[in-house]
Amino acid sequence: MLRLRHPVSLLIICLLVMLGVLRSYTAPSPVGADAPDVVFSAIRAEAILRDLLQENVPHVSGSPDNTVVRNRVVSHLESSAYEPQFQARFHCNPMFGACSPVENIIAIKPGSEGKAAVLLTAHYDSGWAGPGAADDGSGMSAILEIARMAANFPPFKNDIIFLISDSEENGLIGADAFAEHHPLFEKVKVVINLEARGVTGPSALFETGEGNRSIIRMFAKNVERPLGTSLANEIYKRMPNNTDYTVYKRKGVMGVNFAIIQGVPVYHSAIDDPDHLDLGSLQHQGDNAWGMLKALGERDLDAITSREDAGYIDVFSKRLVHYPVSITSGLALFFGVWVMIAIGLAFRKVFRFHQLRWGLLAIPYVLLAIVAGGYILSWPLGQWPDLHPLEHPHPWVGRLALFLMLGLVGYSTLKLFSSRVSACAWMIIAWAMIFILGMQLTSRIPAASHIALIPLLMFALGSVIDLFRKKSPAPLLFASILGFAATCFISFYHFFMLDVVMNFDYSHFKVISFWLMALAVMPMLLAFAKDRELTWQPAKWLSLAILMVCLVHLFLPGFTAERPRDMTLMYSEIEGADAGYLVLESIYGRHDKEYAKSQGFEMMELNSGRLGSVERPVREVALLGLPAVEMVEEGVRAEEKGWHRELRIDLPANSHMLRLTIPKSIGLEKAWVNGELALDLSIESKYERSVDSLELVYPGAGPVTVGLQTTGPEAFTIAAVSWYDLPDALVAPFMDDWPDDAQPFMYGPRAEKIQEFELGAAQ
Ligand SMILES: [Zn+2]
Repeated sequence: MLRLRHPVSLLIICLLVMLGVLRSYTAPSPVGADAPDVVFSAIRAEAILRDLLQENVPHVSGSPDNTVVRNRVVSHLESSAYEPQFQARFHCNPMFGACSPVENIIAIKPGSEGKAAVLLTAHYDSGWAGPGAADDGSGMSAILEIARMAANFPPFKNDIIFLISDSEENGLIGADAFAEHHPLFEKVKVVINLEARGVTGPSALFETGEGNRSIIRMFAKNVERPLGTSLANEIYKRMPNNTDYTVYKRKGVMGVNFAIIQGVPVYHSAIDDPDHLDLGSLQHQGDNAWGMLKALGERDLDAITSREDAGYIDVFSKRLVHYPVSITSGLALFFGVWVMIAIGLAFRKVFRFHQLRWGLLAIPYVLLAIVAGGYILSWPLGQWPDLHPLEHPHPWVGRLALFLMLGLVGYSTLKLFSSRVSACAWMIIAWAMIFILGMQLTSRIPAASHIALIPLLMFALGSVIDLFRKKSPAPLLFASILGFAATCFISFYHFFMLDVVMNFDYSHFKVISFWLMALAVMPMLLAFAKDRELTWQPAKWLSLAILMVCLVHLFLPGFTAERPRDMTLMYSEIEGADAGYLVLESIYGRHDKEYAKSQGFEMMELNSGRLGSVERPVREVALLGLPAVEMVEEGVRAEEKGWHRELRIDLPANSHMLRLTIPKSIGLEKAWVNGELALDLSIESKYERSVDSLELVYPGAGPVTVGLQTTGPEAFTIAAVSWYDLPDALVAPFMDDWPDDAQPFMYGPRAEKIQEFELGAAQ
């Protein structure tokens, strides 16, 4: 029978594969400033970044601070001998109901043919809370450095358009302005977009256009350290997130979207500054962009969109395995049948059907026990401790607990079933399941077929080696080992991938990645355990070890100064009230409770400014008396299938943002701001909204007209929130004891005024 010298060899294979996979999730080292100009250097790009973000403050589009950054971007382009141009307008993206002033910066490197163009883009505006060194200073500085390098290159075949876009954070407004109104957009056949949702780790290819077969082949060939899988692309399609590339993708333009993916707690926080950006991440981002730009620059772009998609996954970030999805069902069938025949032939003399019975019990036991173990551990690892929803600053202790749990499940399976389930029975059922999984994937998510195809292929290859090892007492040993190594790869790859998007409170979900590994390893372990007396002792030791590790994990901080919780001090006042409130805002609901208590904040229901209320830690303070927005209804007219209302809004000076919230009940279909379409709810969006809103970022003082097209004639209430500077004197007393592990996030410190207006019924 299938026999190993010792299961430790399996553990070694498993660890080696894990180390390989970890390479995928690591950024390269930054290349020094003395590197020749054909090589991207993160150190040179960092110097640009530090120059751009000297003041280290937030620079939302439309703010004076953003103008300062804009001017520096322009001077960098000019010093590389470009003649940058602006695209300036007040623009709205009707997909989000978001408007702001936009000043896109564009530079062109003309191509020798110049029939088509490659667009290399990143945004220069930041969010409200921090300077945005990673998001998207990393992309912007990488592009400025690449533009400088490209200037010394002979022309490529295609035009290269460098677009440093504005107002991405407010709703992809700059990108939308470029696509809708700039004549150059027509030439753009492919987009390279650079983004960040964290500050460290590799730059991953997380999204492409539809029909990516050809561009994926280019990615495999022209990027030194490819990281990405088509499954992430599939998952991203179903997530509510967006980047500038969303705009271009919806217009059918092919593209590759790269993002720095780890260190999420710093994303959109006050400390997304140059000191917190991992230069390795910047290096990887630049390498990816430069590699793709050179290749796409020379490429005939008429055929850049293929008729079909590719499935792909990187192997240790060394190589990209890719395949056209059209051949996956054939491959799954071919290798699946091969594997089943190989197993049948190898065990034809010893196999009896009744052996399958216990196997049919044991395999579901293992799969369920893994999930149950993950669920139980999700409490000490993720539910009880105070954690960021997406990332743990010290993940290895929790990971170790999960790995030990897998060991415990494996050992208990051996103890319970080794005398009842033969290795061959397990092997037949397990590989039949992997085969079925493969067939299911090829029909449902063909771009994820490699999850089953790679193990089937490796098992099949191993079976050929086994065929030539006549003297071996263990049939299919090589097939089993190669199949196991492949499942280790798939399991660890997806485990660490999920680690980037969920924390330990989803442990039961994360460990599903290990199902494949468990299916493939057990036949070898069963054969090893067959004639041995197993006791419960090792299981007891494993359980004790899990307990100890969980205990250590519970003592680890879930937030640190480098990976902070989100906590913003802001002021809120409702028109007509005689007091204001200081609010400890936490978008993730993880404010520091001890701090809140010590400073006298108490949980209270407060008007959310979105026609509802929300419970938050607040403290009453004297009224600031913020300026008010004025709104008059100028007219209502019946239209073909509904009503058109016209509002005139007068904005006070110094307001940074105005948000109008309109109840779902009146059936809003479209909205206009100063005559420009600002919201169109018929546009399909990945983003689900509970209320409809219009956001005007830095609209400037004075009158604005807003048009609303509704289906209902009834009277309704409209909420208006306007933002102003938060006076230092108000918050200073609370800053002395401010926790080290908390940073403003997302909308940042601000003073908001909430008003509600009654609009009459249409006649
Ligand atoms: Zn961004």
